[in-house]
Amino acid sequence: MNFDVARHNMVVEQLEERGIADSRVLEAMDWVRRHEFVPGPLLSQSYDDRALPIELEQTISQPYTVAFMCEAARLTADDKVLEIGTGTGYCAAVLSLLTREVHTVERLEPLYLSAAERLTRLGFRNVRCYFDDGTLGLPSEAPFNAIVCTAGAESLPEGYQKQLADGGRIVIPVGINSRQEMIRITRCGDQFRHENLGTFGFVPLVADTES
Ligand code: SAH
Repeated sequence: MNFDVARHNMVVEQLEERGIADSRVLEAMDWVRRHEFVPGPLLSQSYDDRALPIELEQTISQPYTVAFMCEAARLTADDKVLEIGTGTGYCAAVLSLLTREVHTVERLEPLYLSAAERLTRLGFRNVRCYFDDGTLGLPSEAPFNAIVCTAGAESLPEGYQKQLADGGRIVIPVGINSRQEMIRITRCGDQFRHENLGTFGFVPLVADTES
């Protein structure tokens, strides 16, 4: 299998043709070798149009979903971004090409360890990984220009709005039973504008008090 060809086809057929228009996002999706993040036995499915299972009942998100969230976050090259739910580190890698700094939090230690190792090995130097409960955000590094949550939340975690810089955006799937509405919240001074960007399916965001 030629992964470079498969990845380029993914960008054209799954992203561009479905409306992803931000050229920086499309380039980043073409650059990051998704097959480096996919578990060995599923390698041949690396560029399929779907989420794939990883360890501990988690997933690597569908390429379209990653591109959609990155585009929705309206990132600039100077932004400092918080990602909740590192998983494999794939989305963090894409974010790292679009922004100045990425901080990514994962609550499952084996996933945190392997993503941190993988991102270092692949040379994504502007990503820092944390083993923690991301429902709290990451107060020590706030404020952020964008917060991208890659797990489905039942409701917006309390601290996120406070950790957002003026003009900043939160992109978060909110809902239950693997069916969420993608919400974008934009901060303008003390005002927070909420927009619904459509329906998606995610593994749940789990607060550590629940586990
Ligand atoms: N961004 C990932 C996909 C993530 S799947 C990728 O590109 O591969 C969602 C991830 O969120 C899972 O790894 C899950 O363990 C993690 N997660 C769930 N609840 C969390 C929490 N409270 N804090 C941090 N991570 C959490």
